[in-house]
Amino acid sequence: MADQLSELKAKDAAVYQAILQEEKRQQSHLELIASENWTSLAVRQAVGSVMTDKYAEGYPGKRYYGGCEYMDVVETLAQDRLREIFHAEYVNVQPHSGASANTAVYFAALKHGDRILGMDLSHGGHLTHGSPANLSGKFYQVRHYGVDRQTERMDMDSIRSLAKDFQPQMIVVGASAYPREIDFEAFYQIAQEVGALVMVDMAHIAGLVAAGLHGSPVGFADFVTSTTHKTLRGPRGGLILSTPEWGPKLDKSVFPGLQGGPLMNTIAGKAVAFGEALTEEFRIYQAHVVENARALAQGLMERGLRLVSGGTDNHLLLIDVKHSGLTGKVAQARLARVGLTVNKNTIPFETEKPTVASGIRIGTPQITTRGLGQNDMAELADVIAAVLQAPQDQDPDPYLARVQALAEAFPLPGI
Ligand SMILES: *Cc1c(COP(=O)(O)O)cnc(C)c1O
Repeated sequence: MADQLSELKAKDAAVYQAILQEEKRQQSHLELIASENWTSLAVRQAVGSVMTDKYAEGYPGKRYYGGCEYMDVVETLAQDRLREIFHAEYVNVQPHSGASANTAVYFAALKHGDRILGMDLSHGGHLTHGSPANLSGKFYQVRHYGVDRQTERMDMDSIRSLAKDFQPQMIVVGASAYPREIDFEAFYQIAQEVGALVMVDMAHIAGLVAAGLHGSPVGFADFVTSTTHKTLRGPRGGLILSTPEWGPKLDKSVFPGLQGGPLMNTIAGKAVAFGEALTEEFRIYQAHVVENARALAQGLMERGLRLVSGGTDNHLLLIDVKHSGLTGKVAQARLARVGLTVNKNTIPFETEKPTVASGIRIGTPQITTRGLGQNDMAELADVIAAVLQAPQDQDPDPYLARVQALAEAFPLPGI
C-alpha cells in the first residue's frame, strides 16, 4: 500500500504513518474480532475514489443535485446486486452504519413510546435493540428476551410468553454475540400471534445468509437490516431490505428523516462487495468461515475451555473465561501480548461489569479471508488454550512466535 499513498506521505506524514502502522498491525496480528473482516483491494479502491466528493441527496433518478448520473449508476448497481443476493424486493443501500439502518426502521414503523421486544445485550443482543444507553431504549418501551440458563440458546416458548405478556409493536431479532442459528420462522410466528412487526438485524451473519449457510430472514420479517462490513466483507456501512409497501416510508426515513447526503464512495464500495458476494468464491469462503469456527471451537473444548452453548453454528464463539479463572479483560490483554486481537464480551447471566466481563468473543471471518484453514485452527486453539490456562507470569514470547509464524504464512491479500 505504501506506494499507493505517495501523495499522502508527502503532504501529511502524521496521518500517513498512522495508516502504515495500522497496516503493519493488521499484517502481523491475527484479527479474531468477530465483527471485522478484510475488504478486497477493489472495494478499498472504490471507497478511496472521487465518489467521496459528490453530493447526491435523494435516490437514483430523483436527486436534489445536478451531476448525479454516475452516482445513479453505482447506487443502482448496489441496489440490483443486493436484491439478487437476498431475493429482496425493496432495498436501501444508504444507511451509514448498522445502527443507522436500525434507527431508520424504527422511525419508519414505530411511534415514540411504542413497545419493542429485543434480545438482552448481555445475552448477545445489540445496543440498538433497546439498550437504555441507546436512542432505541430512550424512545421506546423495551423488554428483553435472553437465552435459557441451561442450554444457553434462545428458548422460543419463553420468548412467546414474554411477547404475549408485553404485546410489543415490534419484535427485534438478531445478535452480536450469539453462536447458534436463529429460527426466524419461529419468531415470525410469534409476531403473527401477537400482531407485532418483525425486524431481523442480521449484521453479523449476513455473509452466511448470502451464501445459504444460515437460514434467510427474508420472508420471515417485515424489515431486515444489516451492516455491510462484517461477514459480508464490504466497506463500513448499513443496509435495509423490506417489502415494496414499506418502500416510500423507509426511503423517507433514511433521507431526509435521519441522514443527509449518502456516502457515495462507500456505496460504490458496497456495489463492488455485493458483486463479490454473488460469486462462487464467496460461497466457498463463507463455508470455510463456518468450518474454521467449528474446528476452533472443537480444539478449544478439547483443551478444557468452556464455550457458551457448547460450540457454534456460525462464524463466532464465546469463551467463558471465568471458567478458566480469568476475566474477559485479563484474557483480552493476555491474548494481545501474543499477537491475537479479540474482544472481551459479556456472557449470559453475566456477573461482571461490561468493561470487565466474563467472556471473550472470537470470530473467524478475517483469518479465513487470509487463508487460514482447519489445520491452522488446531494450532490457534493450542496457543489460545495455553495462554489462557497458563500461570500469570508465563513468558509470552514462544506463543507470540507461533502467532507470527501463522501471520507470515498467510499475508493479507491485496497489499
Ligand atoms: C455491529 C452490529 C450493529 C451496528 O453496526 P454499526 O455499523 O457499528 O452501527 C447493529 N446490530 C448488530 C446485531 C450488530 O452486530
